[in-house]
Amino acid sequence: SIILGIETSCDDTAAAVVRGDGVILSQVVSSQADLLERYGGVDPKMAGEAHSLVIDQVVEQAIQNANLTENSLSAVSVTIGPGLSLCLRVGVRKARSVAGKFGLPIIGIHHMEAHALIARIFERDLHFPFLVLLVSGGHNLIIVARDLGHYIQLGTTIDDAIGEAYDKTARLLGLDLRNGGGPALEQLALEGDAYAIKFSIPMKQYKDCNFSYAGLKTQTKKAIEKMNVNIDNCPISQADSKERKSRADIAASFQRVAVLHLEDRVERAIEWTMDIEPSIKHLVISGGVASNQYVRERLDLIANKKHLQLICPPPSLCTDNGVMVAWTGIEHFCLGRFEPPPPANEPEDYMLDLRPRWPLGEEYIRGRSDAP
Ligand code: ATP
Ligand code: FE
Repeated sequence: SIILGIETSCDDTAAAVVRGDGVILSQVVSSQADLLERYGGVDPKMAGEAHSLVIDQVVEQAIQNANLTENSLSAVSVTIGPGLSLCLRVGVRKARSVAGKFGLPIIGIHHMEAHALIARIFERDLHFPFLVLLVSGGHNLIIVARDLGHYIQLGTTIDDAIGEAYDKTARLLGLDLRNGGGPALEQLALEGDAYAIKFSIPMKQYKDCNFSYAGLKTQTKKAIEKMNVNIDNCPISQADSKERKSRADIAASFQRVAVLHLEDRVERAIEWTMDIEPSIKHLVISGGVASNQYVRERLDLIANKKHLQLICPPPSLCTDNGVMVAWTGIEHFCLGRFEPPPPANEPEDYMLDLRPRWPLGEEYIRGRSDAP
């Protein structure tokens, strides 16, 4: 099979064509990072319009670059949630119009399932069940993937996701956000002392697998305010070496504690998983933050300690992309999970099946005896 995948759930417009054996025939991503930098966050209406402007071009390019012969596509898969509905609808409309035109089945994809399953495209030994840490701009999840479409959620964030904390901190530190706040902060942290500032590790007293990043965000904000510089008038490119060093210290200290929180939760999640699926051999990390080198190194230590193999997709497949949507489509398609082709020239007001809020699997409730 050959599947076209389309992704528009957040701020990247992406499409890719992937073959059943995992060969990536094409991939195109158009990012709105420059918009984000100017407006300081995703405005749903503007993000939706930005997707509309480029969607045709991104999808046509993906189809063209794949060098497909006539009628060689088997299906179209598209992210239907979770995400902003004004964004999701742009991708779903396009997917339905391509599928309608060529008479192809449609597969609706869960964005976070796609982040998790992309690991299987290049790691052929990654069989179910396995444990997954999903760390991105909007999610912080620990999931046991028992089987295709069957997930158990061990933990989630009670406020913000780690990617958002990276983005906010990068902005407060006056970093260049054009390639995303996370990568900029990771770079600056290399120059800093990770023990310079003593941030406290979130939720230490709660013996569960949930996350919280709002408190760390506030602590970091206070530390930055204490530096007493007007960041608006002093982007990092204009900071002198002393000023640059103190910002790097904050970045490194933030990163150390943000990731310690991940380590802490993942270690417990591995222990919990031994009760549910004692045969697991792999820990997968994915989502934008999983492209962070420090995150990878620290979680590799945890995995080793617990005798699991860490698997992380290449950085370009950790952040939003069309390949993960196409690949997850292939996984479902192979099991016969798809919808029949939509009619050609479907009316504009057709009610789309969008799922802006869509939990990935059921929540795991741990026995009372282990409650804090
Ligand atoms: P979600 O997947 O939850 O819907 P999203 O799709 O916006 O959110 P992704 O594209 O998966 O998120 O990831 C983007 C996030 O990853 C951003 O918050 C970004 O700062 C963060 N990120 C990307 N690279 C790095 C890095 N090297 N270090 C830390 N964070 C990073
Ligand atoms: Fe994402």
